[in-house]
Amino acid sequence: MSRLIFLFAIAALIYLLVKSYRKSPVKPVDKNAEDMVQCAQCGVHLPVGESLTVSGQSFCCASHRDLFQK
Ligand SMILES: [Zn+2]
Repeated sequence: MSRLIFLFAIAALIYLLVKSYRKSPVKPVDKNAEDMVQCAQCGVHLPVGESLTVSGQSFCCASHRDLFQK
C-alpha cells in the first residue's frame, strides 16, 4: 500500500513539474491589451504602442511617416 502512495506522490510531482514548466515560457496572451493599427504607407499591422500617429494616420516607422507626408 505504501508503494502505491509513493507512486501517486511521484505522479503528482511530475504533474506539477510539467504544469509549471508549461506555464512559464508561455506569455499571457491578451489580445485586447493593445489595438492593432495599419501603417498608412506600407499597410503593415502593428500595435498602437509601436506606431507613430500623425493627424489620424498611423505609421510603422518615421521614414514611412515622412514618405506619406511628401
Ligand atoms: Zn510602414
